[in-house]
Amino acid sequence: MLEQWLTRWREGRIGWHETDGNTLMKRHWPRLVRDSSVLVPFCGKAVDMLWLASQGLQVTGVEISEVAVEQFFSENDLEFVLTDASGIGCYQAKTAPIRILRGNYFDIDPGRLEDGAFDALYDRGALVAVAPGERPRYVEQTRRLLAPEAYRLVISMTYDDSRVSGPPYSVKPGEMLGYWDDLECVTSRNAIGDSPEKFRRAGIEEVIESVWTSV
Ligand code: SAH
Repeated sequence: MLEQWLTRWREGRIGWHETDGNTLMKRHWPRLVRDSSVLVPFCGKAVDMLWLASQGLQVTGVEISEVAVEQFFSENDLEFVLTDASGIGCYQAKTAPIRILRGNYFDIDPGRLEDGAFDALYDRGALVAVAPGERPRYVEQTRRLLAPEAYRLVISMTYDDSRVSGPPYSVKPGEMLGYWDDLECVTSRNAIGDSPEKFRRAGIEEVIESVWTSV
């Protein structure tokens, strides 16, 4: 599976990338205490990281593809310093509170990150990028990285997955609440217009994008 993501980045097949960032996230993200740390798993080159940094937050993305990480910095005119954080390449922006750990999310050892547990989570295209059998492990790893009372904003997709399969995978409300029972769905919209062509080819008319938050 990892190989497929790397190939997609090499070939530029990254239909999930939102040039202007995620509108729903910006609408629902709360004002957090200045310098709170935010974890962005499976970050790709999401410009949402710039927006979170502009809110006074310390952003840490995690991404397997070097192509993605390099594009994030070059496309946003950000210089970086490359260091090593617990055996994983750490790209630290010079002029913004953003760093990207370049490696497999599942390999990140919370005990070896100097700055400890994260205060917040922004998950768009991460949980839904993980195949069903691996999702509990993804959630467990995320839990290990977050502070116990961390703020969470998770975006899910729900559609008829008997007709087409992910990624993005369909994650139903019951499954989401099975992972985090304190999340609330604050908004939903039909995102079929912004979904991969394979959904429309399969005759799917509804891909419900929902925002779940912990407050
Ligand atoms: N959150 C981003 C990207 C979503 S696509 C956005 O909103 O645009 C999913 C991303 O996860 C891809 O960039 C892929 O390369 C990355 N990825 C997949 N598996 C990963 C893993 N195990 N560790 C780190 N990154 C991973």
